[in-house]
Amino acid sequence: MSADRIESARQILITEDLDGLLFFGLPNIRYLCGFSGTDGVLFISPKESMFLTDSRYKTQAEQQVNTRRNICYKNKFSAVIDILSQQKISRIGFDAEAVTVAVFNELKKMTIDPVEWVPLVDQIRPLRACKSEAELEALKQAATLNSVAFDEILPQIQPGVTERQIALSLEFSLKRLGGEANAFDIIVASGERGALPHGIASEKQLNAGELVTIDFGTRVSGYHSDETVTLAIGEVDGKLRQIFDIVLKAHDLALEAISPGMNIPELDAVARDYIASQGFGDYFGHGLGHGVGLEIHEYPAVSSRTDAVLREGMVITIEPGIYIPGVGGVRIEDTVVVTDVGYRALTSIPKHFRQLNIH
Ligand code: ZN
Ligand code: ZN
Repeated sequence: MSADRIESARQILITEDLDGLLFFGLPNIRYLCGFSGTDGVLFISPKESMFLTDSRYKTQAEQQVNTRRNICYKNKFSAVIDILSQQKISRIGFDAEAVTVAVFNELKKMTIDPVEWVPLVDQIRPLRACKSEAELEALKQAATLNSVAFDEILPQIQPGVTERQIALSLEFSLKRLGGEANAFDIIVASGERGALPHGIASEKQLNAGELVTIDFGTRVSGYHSDETVTLAIGEVDGKLRQIFDIVLKAHDLALEAISPGMNIPELDAVARDYIASQGFGDYFGHGLGHGVGLEIHEYPAVSSRTDAVLREGMVITIEPGIYIPGVGGVRIEDTVVVTDVGYRALTSIPKHFRQLNIH
């Protein structure tokens, strides 16, 4: 599997006229050669593939990595420069989104032979965009854990419970069920805090008559889940119900519009235009969604500012929201895979309006 992936990365050597490629980004490295540790560099040339890491990961690399050679270094940058020199590289491409300016400057400073460093962004991004069956299976498993954990903690969502208690219960359930780690800090935003799109769970208690937005995910085999549910704690006023219904409709319209070949800004516009038509355009400030995979936010961004096109096998979120300062907010999010005819949802918690009975 990873051998095919290294082959597909080699296409970049041809299209960009390069002698070699260096990958510094861990998700790229994991995708291409299987290494799941937290430090290393992958080198690929037309004939060679090498994984470089330090002694902490020597054994792990031997077990996981499928490159032709593994190299154990004492100093990462010196090891990289040595490879370029040994392999007589004159044009080296690298995954520029994974390299800081400081690291780039250091590498250039250390380079002895005349080597041209070629930053790659658009050439790298599509590599991981369309998921294989095995990747979809891991994404589905992560999404299933979301659903099971949510059912477990649902009875706890009652007035008087703090947002943080809900987040902790969810985290505990997800990990007990087999999730590797939280995909991100769990968001539990109730009442007026619902107007914070990224309201990390606080010590605030839930109150009757509020909406609560819960955005959470976990990780299975490195692949993430991402899903948002907004619930009513008892009866809520008409304004909150109104924005809930608008967000749900925008979410449903966007899902129905998904089709391979579609320009992504058009998909973003389906939800955005509907929300604007209902008078709430100023309260939906973020993009409609994002790609999900080995990273929780990855290519493609589902927004108005991309030239990417939907492709079969891409996994994206659809997560419109309305956030009204001083009032509250609603976000509804599903993670879906683009199919040959439309989409298939990976997440499965029901998204219809749910009013919880207060005990
Ligand atoms: Zn989310
Ligand atoms: Zn998301």
